[in-house]
Formats: sequence, C-alpha cells, structure tokens
Amino acid sequence: MPSKISDKCSFCGRSKKQVQLLITGTDANICDECVKHAGNLLNTELGSKNNNSELANLKLMKPLDIKVFLDTYVVGQEDAKKTVAVAVYNHYKRLLHAGKRDKDDIDIEKSNILLVGETGTGKTLLARTVAKLLHVPFAIVDATVLTEAGYVGEDVESILTRLLQAADYNVDAAERGIVFIDEIDKIARKGDNPSITRDVSGEGVQQALLKLLEGSVVNVPPQGGRKHPDQKMIAVNTKNILFVCGGAFEGIERKIAIRLNTKTVGYGASKNRNDMIRNNLLEFISPLDLRSFGLIPEIIGRLPVVTHLNPLDKETLLRILTEPKDALIKQYTKLFELDKIELKIDDNVLEYIVDKSMEFKLGARGLRSICEAIMLDAMFEMPSSANAKKFHITIDYAKSKFEKSKINLLRVAG
Ligand code: ADP
Repeated sequence: MPSKISDKCSFCGRSKKQVQLLITGTDANICDECVKHAGNLLNTELGSKNNNSELANLKLMKPLDIKVFLDTYVVGQEDAKKTVAVAVYNHYKRLLHAGKRDKDDIDIEKSNILLVGETGTGKTLLARTVAKLLHVPFAIVDATVLTEAGYVGEDVESILTRLLQAADYNVDAAERGIVFIDEIDKIARKGDNPSITRDVSGEGVQQALLKLLEGSVVNVPPQGGRKHPDQKMIAVNTKNILFVCGGAFEGIERKIAIRLNTKTVGYGASKNRNDMIRNNLLEFISPLDLRSFGLIPEIIGRLPVVTHLNPLDKETLLRILTEPKDALIKQYTKLFELDKIELKIDDNVLEYIVDKSMEFKLGARGLRSICEAIMLDAMFEMPSSANAKKFHITIDYAKSKFEKSKINLLRVAG
C-alpha cells in the first residue's frame, strides 16, 4: 500500500504553511521556491547548449530589413534608425563571426551606440526595439544612480545584475544582451579642468563604466547592491554585450555651434548653410563636442557609433498616436473591443491630444496621460452597461473630460 506523502517539500523540507504553493506528485512534493531554483539550474546547465544552436539559427538580417522592423515601432528619427540598423547588423555579424577563426584573423570591434536627443524622443524605445528584434535580454539602467565603489549609490556592476535578472540568470544569454544606459550625460565631468578632489558622480563613474564597455570579465553580485555581502559572485564577460547609451546633453548645441563657427568662418560660408546648421546642430555632433561636454576620451572611444534624435513636432506626435504597431489608439481600440465596444475618435480629438501634450511640454510621454484623462470615465462605466456598443469621442466630449482632469488642474495650480 503506498504510504501517504507528508505535507512537506521533498527537496527543502519546508511545510505547506511555509511556502506559497506545494505541488504534489506521485510520491513526492515540490514547493514553488524549489521549482524556481530548479528552473535556474536548468537554464545554467542547458542554456549554453541551447544558445549555441540558437546562435547558429540566427539569420543575418540586412540593415534595410532591420530598419523596416524599427519603422514599425519608432516613428521618424530616420538618421538614428539607419545608424542603429547598421550598428546592429555589424553586431550580429560579429556575434556570428565570434569563435570562427579565418586566415586573416581580424577581430571585429563592438559597435556600442550613443544616442543624443531630448528626453522623450524615443531613445529607450529604439534600444528596446533592437532587443526585441534580436531576441536577447535587455536591461535599462539610469547612470545617475551609479557611483564609484565605496560611495553611496550603486556600483557599475549592478548594471550587469539587471541584465542577469532579465536573462533569468542564464549567463550565456546575458553575455549577448543589450544594456541601455540612460542619462549618460549626467556623469559628465563638471567643469573643464580635471578636479584635484575626487569627482564622485562624474569622472570616477566613467572610469568604472569603461571596464564594462571595453569588454572584460566582471564579477557580478547576483542579488545586486552591497546589502548581501555573502552572495556568490557570477563572472560575466561583457565582450559581446551591446551597450546603447542615451542622453539629452543639454547645451551641447552651443559647443557644436562654437566648433562649427570657428570652422566655417573664413571659408565663405553662405547664409543658407549657416541657417541650416543652426536648425539641426545635433546632426553635426562629433566626439570633440562630447569631450568638451565632459565625457572622457576613453569612454568616447568605446562609443564609436554616435547618432542624434530630433525633437518631436506636432506631425510626428500625431503619427506616434496612431501608427506604430502598438500605438496608443490601437491599444485603446483593443481594450474597448474586448468589451465588444467600438471606439471611434474624431480626427480633431487626436489633434487636441497632441496640442495639449505640446502645451504642457509633456512630449510623447504625455499622450498616454491625456488619453487616460479623456477616456477614464467611459472605461469605468461602459463595461457595466449592457447596451454600450459604441464609444464615439467628439471634440466637445474630449474637452469636457480633459478640462476636469487632474493634469489640467495641475497646470492651473502651477
Ligand atoms: P527617451 O528614452 O528618449 O527619453 P522614450 O523612448 O522613453 O524616450 O519615449 C517615451 C515614450 O514616448 C515611449 O514609450 C514611446 O511610446 C513614445 N515615443 C517617443 N518617441 C517616439 C517615436 N519616435 N516613435 C514612437 N513612439 C515614441
């Protein structure tokens, strides 16, 4: 006669009460925690085998195809998309080439990318879309929280902790992942002369970051932070990790202008050319400007692909609202559709949403909160109403809802 299984996990011995879930088998139990551990173990043990075959299956997508993929998510920003498509293509080739030795034995260097543009112009979105395309783990970190080891804040190794977490601790996958480091401009050296006192948030962090960008084996605390001093470190090789850095670099236009002016004066620069340059200064960004902004030359050298994102104008914001694969309006339409309600929005309402977002200086990020303000009441009431079949948003309806909303009140208060 089979013996009755106890109420304990057969692996860790914890009782049913001590765990969230206890799964019962024929003659053993396993708890949720042990399932997780077993999953991680499987990833680590089998991960490298799977990854190698995954890598072999990678189809080399041409830059043009990569750009088409980026187009489905990112509106406008043609220069940035083109540059990123080429950088990603080269990264792909590099990954496929890695390990193969041919007669010329050329080592292709990584093409880490620097995206320069105002906040909310799509830098993170671009990096995220690339990760989606490559099916690789993706982590976003904010450079402002990083400090040199020994200071209050996060060590740069925490960047790799995030990536490991995104990869479910599969080291091989993490080693081919993409990291987006936001606000890289905030760790620029303050002031032009290298300080005698230590610059905690600036140059020191850049030096520490360099180690990661260059490609080296870094010991990473799997739980992150310094709170768990006993944790066993995981060695991560950053050689094949693609780093995409982003920053607004506020004021860099002035540095570009100064550099360009000193160049153009005396060469018979025409008025037209000067006007054109003034309107699109970021297009002309060069390593020299980054250096005078306060990035150290070694970091600049490790970010060989530099591109810019344009500020979003009204037309682009309108397109963002409706065109991308998961555009906001498509999302709302789907949400209502799931309740069998047809959503119809008048064109002038879309323009109103964009105008308000520009007026409140919220950029693309504001579109969602404005839509939410307009549709909240309907989303609250309509699912419970049996005869609601259609939701038609007219300009009067939109105005009346928005004017009562918290965002609008905020502006009145401010
Ligand atoms: P950044 O990283 O430059 O500050 P984000 O990429 O986080 O900006 O953009 C904020 C939000 O605005 C994104 O979630 C995205 O929906 C939207 N967005 C911004 N720019 C674009 C764009 N060019 N195309 C489509 N959506 C965009």
